Amino acid sequence: MSEQTSPCPGRCNRAWRAAEARARRAAAAVIADGREPTDDERSLILHGVEPAPGSPVWCAACSTRIQESLGRLPDLVAGVWAVATPPPGRLSTQVGAGRLAPLPASEVKPRGRGRRVSPAGSPAIVVVDEVAAALRGWERLVREDLGHTQADRHRPGQDTVTASVAYLVEWVAALLSLPEAQEVGETITTLERRLEIASGMDEVQRLQTPCLRCDRRAVEHRDGAAHVACGQCGAVWTLDQWDYALGVAARAGRRRA
Ligand SMILES: [Zn+2]
Ligand SMILES: [Zn+2]
Repeated sequence: MSEQTSPCPGRCNRAWRAAEARARRAAAAVIADGREPTDDERSLILHGVEPAPGSPVWCAACSTRIQESLGRLPDLVAGVWAVATPPPGRLSTQVGAGRLAPLPASEVKPRGRGRRVSPAGSPAIVVVDEVAAALRGWERLVREDLGHTQADRHRPGQDTVTASVAYLVEWVAALLSLPEAQEVGETITTLERRLEIASGMDEVQRLQTPCLRCDRRAVEHRDGAAHVACGQCGAVWTLDQWDYALGVAARAGRRRA
């Protein structure tokens, strides 16, 4: 890895970060005791797990995932809007039916007392406002960076979200090369998740096949996503790669049998 390229901060490097943490603990124990490492400690310290380098900040796979998440934001915002602003007279029914209920306090911190009665102050709409503000800020930075004319996005709401996302998806390479690129990527992922919960669009399917890397049954596919990801070791495959890998594994299994 070159000096300029840091490891990708994405979930692709979870296994590497875990290996590094184990190595640091083992090395600290050896140094504290002032002795030679045991064979086990030596293999922990020289773990041999290579990090995926950032390109420039996020690796290609994580960049693709962030771009997908970014592209989903307008639909998710529309979904939240539909749930949080029901036609007049239907609000109590909707709340009663639990459409606003899947907003656990741990996921979406309500402002103040956080009562979910008025759509204007509801946690769902607070998330939408945060999304709109974040997108506006990033669009401003990218336009500044690329020397584009600043957009006039004063009217808040779904239209500005859609327009900002369209611009940011088109210039996503510039977005993910900003000095703030790590925070941008992390925020997009967090906002996507919060919108999914606020809109009730948080369908996650756990696949039957165990993870091809860590062998745990933790591979998940989120509604509409073009990738699957292991919730345990952080491995990520596009749907094509996953199908191909399963095919290879099945052929290898038949040869062994
Ligand atoms: Zn990555
Ligand atoms: Zn795994």
